[in-house]
Parts: sequence; C-alpha cells; structure tokens
Amino acid sequence: MAQVCRTCKTALNPTQTNWTRHNITRGICRLCLLRLGDSKNTEILDAIDAPVLLMQETPRQVSAANKRALDLFDKDLVNIEGHRGGQVFDCIHSFTEAGCGKDTNCESCKIKTAIVETFTTGNAFDAVSTHLKIKKGDDTIIYAIQVSTEKVDNLALVRIDKYEKAK
Ligand SMILES: [Zn+2]
Repeated sequence: MAQVCRTCKTALNPTQTNWTRHNITRGICRLCLLRLGDSKNTEILDAIDAPVLLMQETPRQVSAANKRALDLFDKDLVNIEGHRGGQVFDCIHSFTEAGCGKDTNCESCKIKTAIVETFTTGNAFDAVSTHLKIKKGDDTIIYAIQVSTEKVDNLALVRIDKYEKAK
C-alpha cells in the first residue's frame, strides 16, 4: 500500500519514504516540508508526533515549536520564538551574561555542537545525549537530555527525545 503524507495525504513517492537524512520528518512530503518555514503554520510541526523545535541559523535561535514542545517545556510560543535553544531548555548557562552558546561552559555543549553541524554539513544527528543543569524556579536540577536533528532547507528541526530529571 502506498504511503501517504501525514499532513496533506497525497501519496509519497518511494524516494520520499526512504530518507536517511529525514529521521524526524519521515512521512511528510516535500511540499509540506517547504511550508515549515511559515511560522504561522504549525500544522506541519504538529504532525510530528514528538516535541520539536524549528531553528534558524543566523542568529541561531528557535523560530517555532509544536504543541508537544510547548507542553513539555510548559511555555507559550512567545517564550520560545526568537529565543536560544538553551533558554527554551532553561539551561543555567543561558542565564549568564554571555548567553546560550557563547558562555565558556557552552564550548563543549553536545547539543550546540550537533545543531551547528546540522546547519553546516546538512547531516542529521540521532540521539545526541547529554546532561544539562536546568534552572527550575530557585533550584538547579541535573536533567538528562537527548535530541535528534535534521536540516530542512535553511532551517533545522530539533526533536526532543528526552528531557527529564537525571536518575
Ligand atoms: Zn504533504
């Protein structure tokens, strides 16, 4: 049986059902992906059944998020749009003067590295795991975080595979 696009329900051609670089948007057709950049249109992002952030490269910041991501981070879109990834995660290094990605603590950040490489090489990353110190109210809590990435045209998707208190 032919697979259809999860969003517009048109039949996917076979090359679209076997994308190795499309670990996040598998099942969504090319035409729908082209509409990803339209931040008013969250239909495509919401069709992805995991929390995802849509990122732009220059400056590197989040331009949209799906409903699952808003629920996961317990934030409204206004608190995510135009913010750095670390700010969305509430990483303590995003509250420094230098800010997310620029603080000396960020040099070895695996998530930052994966996202930068996704933009520069176009490669997708699967299950990049790290621990981050997350600010929750007055407390700092170590979180286990895992993300996967995929480049779509000049944007990047970051899927949050894990965001929970480290055991
Ligand atoms: Zn489609």
